[in-house]
Amino acid sequence: RRVLLTGANGFIGSHILTQLLDHGFNVCCAVRTRAKGDQILKDFAAQQSQIAITVVPDIVAPNAYHAAVQGTPSFDTVYHTASPFTYQNVENNLQFLEPAIKGTLNLLKAVKDHAPSVKRVVWTGSCASVVDYDHLVSDPPKLYTEEDWNPIAWEEAVHGDPSKAYRASKLFAEREAWAFVDKEKPHYDLVTICPPATFGPLRHSITSIENLNESNARLWRFCFSSTEDAPMPYMPVHTYVDVRDLAYAQFQAMMVPEAGNQRFAVSARQFSFQEVCDILRSRFPELNHRTPLGKPGTSSLPPGAYSIDNSKVKSLLGVEFRSLEETVVDVARCLLDIERNE
Ligand code: NDP
Repeated sequence: RRVLLTGANGFIGSHILTQLLDHGFNVCCAVRTRAKGDQILKDFAAQQSQIAITVVPDIVAPNAYHAAVQGTPSFDTVYHTASPFTYQNVENNLQFLEPAIKGTLNLLKAVKDHAPSVKRVVWTGSCASVVDYDHLVSDPPKLYTEEDWNPIAWEEAVHGDPSKAYRASKLFAEREAWAFVDKEKPHYDLVTICPPATFGPLRHSITSIENLNESNARLWRFCFSSTEDAPMPYMPVHTYVDVRDLAYAQFQAMMVPEAGNQRFAVSARQFSFQEVCDILRSRFPELNHRTPLGKPGTSSLPPGAYSIDNSKVKSLLGVEFRSLEETVVDVARCLLDIERNE
């Protein structure tokens, strides 16, 4: 079986690639430049024979994916993860919105028009399209499910702060994807995977902490390179998933027939930075001077903080989530190693 995977050089993309290769699939990786493809071949040197590279320089351009989807032998499944999620060099909110939305539609259309063998498209969204970030706490606390949609409006997305633009890029891209399938009735089905904050060790190589992907970079900034007396950081994202569990969910999204035309919120559980810092301080005492102390043994989430129901992911996709401790310890080992070798 053959799979096309966009964004294969990214944090999440490279873990999906790991799952696919380890299960014996051949994978064509769509990336922006030849150099990024060469890096994938280096990072996965032992499995090179299962990998092909295709270069898609601009996912917004009309017909961007026409050539990429027509690989030989033909594809059974297409994964789409390529979408902007770094705040570096962003001058305009449309830099999030356009590639997310147009990239998605270009791909869905290309598969419809030029890839008749594809049975399923697995699309990486975000819990940003599920959670209402203007109402993070309530009494009783809100339990989000796959039925919920972030009510953010287009105007806010275009004129709000960049984090709103990022969240909205995931919301509007997912809405457009479902609308496309609804209207065009293509020969394939769609699965959307919506993760919250995703943490975990890297599978792709980077030479410097500066080049960390956005979600791990936040963990680094708040918990690994702060001070003992710093206030405990707060983010509106109250739930997380380990990237390896997310990648397994993505793999299962292809394998499980009943997953077709379903949306999955792949969240392990609530977390707070206090818990992350407690784990770091107990397992890596050498970090104590750069990890906030806060109030050990408590949660730093506000009372009434929302959470996300993962029962559908567990029952339909068969995912079991590892502990926060395992995730934090493995991230720490990976990131401290990168720091040592900078
Ligand atoms: P990375 O930044 O590590 O990876 C992003 C990938 O998308 C890279 O391959 C990148 O290519 C590609 N990409 C970004 N912008 C563009 C663009 N304008 N045109 C073409 N390709 C582009 O981030 P993640 O792995 O974390 O993110 C992957 C997906 O997961 C995204 O869709 C993101 O929204 C989603 N997600 C991530 C979460 C997280 O916490 N990490 C949580 C929820 C959803 P290049 O290397 O060339 O820039």
